[in-house]
Amino acid sequence: MFAKILIANRGEIACRVMRTARRLAIRTVAVHSEADRDALHVAEADEAYAIGPAPARESYLNIERLIAAAKASGAEAIHPGYGFLSENADFAEACAAAGLVFIGPPPAAIRAMGSKSAAKALMGRAGVPLVPGYHGAEQGEVQLAAEAAAIGYPVLIKASAGGGGKGMRIVEREADFAAALAAAKREARSAFGDDTVLIEKYLTRPRHIEMQVFADARGQCIHLFERDCSVQRRHQKVVEEAPAPGMDPERRRAMGAAAVAAARAVGYVGAGTVEFIAEGGQFFFMEMNTRLQVEHPVTEMVTGIDLVEWQLRIAAGEPLPLRQDEVAISGHAIEARIYAEDPARDFLPATGRLQHLRAPAESAEIRVETGVRAGDAIGIHYDPMIAKLVAHGVDRAAALRRLQAALAAYEVMGLATNLDFLARLAAHPDFAAGAVDTGFIARHRAILCGPPPPASEDVLAAAALALLLDEAAAARAEAARSADPYSPWHRRDGWRLNGDTYQDLAFAEGEARRAVRVHYGREAYRLEIGGRSIAARAERSPDGSLRLDLDGVRSNLRVLRQGGAFCVLKAGRTYTLRHIDPLAPRDVAEAASGQLAAPMSGRIIQVFAAAGNAVRRGQPLLVIEAMKMEHTISAPADGIVERIGYAVGDLVEEGAELLALAPHDAAAKEAAGGGGDRP
Ligand code: ADP
Repeated sequence: MFAKILIANRGEIACRVMRTARRLAIRTVAVHSEADRDALHVAEADEAYAIGPAPARESYLNIERLIAAAKASGAEAIHPGYGFLSENADFAEACAAAGLVFIGPPPAAIRAMGSKSAAKALMGRAGVPLVPGYHGAEQGEVQLAAEAAAIGYPVLIKASAGGGGKGMRIVEREADFAAALAAAKREARSAFGDDTVLIEKYLTRPRHIEMQVFADARGQCIHLFERDCSVQRRHQKVVEEAPAPGMDPERRRAMGAAAVAAARAVGYVGAGTVEFIAEGGQFFFMEMNTRLQVEHPVTEMVTGIDLVEWQLRIAAGEPLPLRQDEVAISGHAIEARIYAEDPARDFLPATGRLQHLRAPAESAEIRVETGVRAGDAIGIHYDPMIAKLVAHGVDRAAALRRLQAALAAYEVMGLATNLDFLARLAAHPDFAAGAVDTGFIARHRAILCGPPPPASEDVLAAAALALLLDEAAAARAEAARSADPYSPWHRRDGWRLNGDTYQDLAFAEGEARRAVRVHYGREAYRLEIGGRSIAARAERSPDGSLRLDLDGVRSNLRVLRQGGAFCVLKAGRTYTLRHIDPLAPRDVAEAASGQLAAPMSGRIIQVFAAAGNAVRRGQPLLVIEAMKMEHTISAPADGIVERIGYAVGDLVEEGAELLALAPHDAAAKEAAGGGGDRP
């Protein structure tokens, strides 16, 4: 076994690999970009090397720097994690040339599977079933359109060099083919420097089922069963589980055999995943990922095998630790990926600082894989995943219950996350029934991504009480510092010389304004909320939770606060309420403005509107390319475009004003105003 390894990656996967290395008494070397100088994976490594500026191209993708760091540190092997250089055959070769072991398959196997088109051709020859489609070399538009027509619409255009859903377009009708092809090629060229595409029949209600395979250098190859990764948004996984709901032993055997055949056909060594798309009773090969998958923990939870340990052993020349008949599935595991992204805005990645972060407690049945701590930033340079939350149970229902409880206990403040979305998904009856396919999220979008139900009275009461407790604590602290600590002027309990006294608090909840009238009693508050009167008491418990007594009913709620923003966590939901401070009326002014800000830094690649155009709510206005993905900016309301600040090719910073939109009625009035006093 190795004495020291370098991890050519960052974030949760770097931390994950180090955990196993530590357990095996292998020393670890981290690498980091300038942006990651203080990152968790750097802190957790035995030593760390700086490899360049923040953009991945100049750091985590810089082969020479990585090899130099490995040589300088005396590491014997490099673990590439996933993403970055994990499926780069040149990197694997560069490692070998430098006398370092690449912890992954041989370069030839990476190359064979690196092109989706070439891999499909190879798999077809090996007898593995394929989705009907075209994966030839002829790439002219006319030929591709003819192939699409022959396959029959709807079709899916995919970048042959693709990954991460980039360069992928569904085309419903022949009329849309040319535009979709151009967009797919543009995205593929920018992300992979190669715009070769393939075309497949688009299956309308398929499941994504993949098989984990493992091979050693002595010719043995086994599979570690399947993972169901059907729950996807933008064709990217968010929830994965093992085993696949409804999988029967016969089908598992057939898929396992096909996956092993695929691995053998390319002389595979190490950990790999063969992805299939399944519909009806059939399954078809999609691609093989020649690395560890993001979702590998669900397999670990049901097999009890540490996949990273197996990777290390096999790379060190050891045989597979177990035979096919020695591995078995125990119970069920589900993983939810927690991302900085906004489900209400088509899952647009979010950036910002994790002002508050508290993960649920880990146990034998709950795993939290993360690469960030409170205070860290999620930036534009890397993947916006915050953590993976994995729950295990004796069966699917037990695992799901645990996942729901853990999601409810996950606290993040400071940026948009998909936590609420995941909680709604985990609570959806169709998900509980295992009725999953790749269209699940799109089909249930209104329920999963729609605005949350308005906060109930007790949630509002909790926010108001948290505010009052904080004010009282601040007043006590101020009094203690002052010359006259008992002066009535320090009191924050609404005490007045005479009469019933009350204070009106207001919170903004989305667009709505919610009012709370607080009456100050001797022992308790009386709160008036939406016509209801509640006798209320509250105190902070040592862990920061709020102990509430509302009309004699006691509860314990988490109420988080950042400035004027309050997050109340209740029954798996997060309610965000912003205290409207009467002394700071700016909030309201901002909400009313018609400016459209860039949701993230990127480059403008298309502009569909011009100043003076009337546009309808939802109409696409601009396309920004960021993180090598295209994001369409649509009109938030009907209106008239007043001005557009950018042209195609311009770079924009997050928050920059892209265009100004005047509401229809204001614009109409202005136009009418020119006519003077007409009767
Ligand atoms: P990438 O490598 O970019 O992630 P994949 O080929 O792995 O792309 O496909 C990603 C997802 O797209 C799949 O999990 C599946 O949901 C969907 N998909 C791929 N091919 C098809 C198809 N032929 N029909 C329907 N959906 C598909």
